[in-house]
Amino acid sequence: MWKDELKRLLGPRGCLERPEDLRLYEYDGGVDKARPDIVVFPRNTAEVSAIVKLANRHGVPIVGRGAGTGLSGGAIPHHGGIMVAFSRMNRILEIDPLNERAVVEPGVVNLDLSVAADPLGYFYAPDPSSQRACTIGGNVAENAGGPHTLAYGVTTNHVLGLEVVLPDGSIVNTGAPWPDSPGYDLTGLLTGSEGTMALVTKITVRLVRKPEAVKTILAIYDSVDDCAATVSEITARAITPAAIEMLDGILLQMVEEAVHAGYPLDSAGVLLIELEGLSEAVEQQAEQVRQACLHCRAREFRVAKSEAERQLLWKGRKTAFGAIGRVSPFFYVHDGVVPRTSIAPTLRRIGDISSGCGLTIGNIFHAGDGNMHPIILFDARKPGDLEKAQKAGFDILEYCIQVGGSITGEHGIGMEKIHLMDKQFTVESLDMMRKIRNLFDPAQLFNPGKLLPAGRGCAEIRQPPLVPGSTIY
Ligand SMILES: Cc1cc2nc3c(=O)[nH]c(=O)nc-3n(C[C@H](O)[C@H](O)[C@H](O)COP(=O)(O)OP(=O)(O)OC[C@H]3O[C@@H](n4cnc5c(N)ncnc54)[C@H](O)[C@@H]3O)c2cc1C
Repeated sequence: MWKDELKRLLGPRGCLERPEDLRLYEYDGGVDKARPDIVVFPRNTAEVSAIVKLANRHGVPIVGRGAGTGLSGGAIPHHGGIMVAFSRMNRILEIDPLNERAVVEPGVVNLDLSVAADPLGYFYAPDPSSQRACTIGGNVAENAGGPHTLAYGVTTNHVLGLEVVLPDGSIVNTGAPWPDSPGYDLTGLLTGSEGTMALVTKITVRLVRKPEAVKTILAIYDSVDDCAATVSEITARAITPAAIEMLDGILLQMVEEAVHAGYPLDSAGVLLIELEGLSEAVEQQAEQVRQACLHCRAREFRVAKSEAERQLLWKGRKTAFGAIGRVSPFFYVHDGVVPRTSIAPTLRRIGDISSGCGLTIGNIFHAGDGNMHPIILFDARKPGDLEKAQKAGFDILEYCIQVGGSITGEHGIGMEKIHLMDKQFTVESLDMMRKIRNLFDPAQLFNPGKLLPAGRGCAEIRQPPLVPGSTIY
């Protein structure tokens, strides 16, 4: 029996299979649920390879799991099988400040790397709002972003190389410790592949030097349109802040009541803007940003006067999801992207959808990237409410596609948005992606039923029917 083989391989402390233990692994940050047959905790690459070879021999599906904070059902084992939890592969193997890079195992928590590099004057730039919990392996699989990706780019821009275990159990290294490596960009291909082509066992990342100066600004508005217009106004003035985050009036109230970050309770929206760089440049840019905000009728322009005030402003932003949980028993977060210039009309459209379905929708998002996170409040205990929330989410994403955007900016496709892939991509593009996936994993054992919808004539034929849209808190 394959489970006994696994237990012999990893020892009794390397596997969980009691139903009460497996229940802890049947969900992630989304609503979808499915229980694995067994959860295994490898300690090194050789063990991951042996697990994969065993699964291959027995035709058992495999799903990787980092911290389970994913918002698109990526880590849900909805075909059962083996869940490979990377929590014991959590060592920072090397920090090399002279070459500005670090080598980590996939289970390292995102923030822990920046904390470790801080005394050397460096940090790891991709900073998902979940960075206190999510792992770098999960970030690579989802190509995660965060508030500071406006200036620094998403995870793929910071991954120099990977060690991965392929679906046949072989161990392969991609990329190189220097910025460009010859041959096909396999590192780029695997980053964002959501565990469907390889399990990541080691990651070489770029480290970034801490800036000399940082300024954090809160710009306050009486009109959402003016708030949104400022985003393009700032970039039109050739300034790229490290971050431009937006919170609308609905979210501001919820967050302020929970966190007391100093956000105004009576405004229509605020921008949280961060500037980084050399002291003189930051001073100059702060003045230019002030002009841009006033040009767009900001009612107040507040610069954080101390590190404590700065941290408090960010705490409001980064702990917002918890604050929403105090107000609504369930909420559903979306992750569409629109061109920056379409933020205002998209917010109006979201407002119309909200009035149409009778559900409150607040917005807190990476405005600089046009990465919208509408948050739909509902009560799953009320008959029909979940369906209304799902329909609203679907309508919002369709609108994002219509205005030239995308169905995800950073949370991935997982199982949540798989039914929208054929709206985003042509048949030919999807077929191309399926061919690439099949090349890596002809038996479709790695994270089956994720990322790509089943296609005619394609080997991926085992997907169960999916409920459209699903992230619920
Ligand atoms: C409060 C909150 C805020 C968030 N904010 C952001 C944000 O600002 N930006 C953002 O991008 N996301 C955000 N997210 C989503 C989530 O944190 C990210 O998608 C994150 O990258 C998931 O990491 P994880 O370790 O939790 O991965 P998991 O949820 O465990 O897994 C995610 C995917 O990665 C795969 N995977 C995990 N480890 C490996 C591995 N070693 N090899 C191959 N595949 C693997 C899994 O199979 C799954 O498909 C947020 C989530 C929450 C709950």
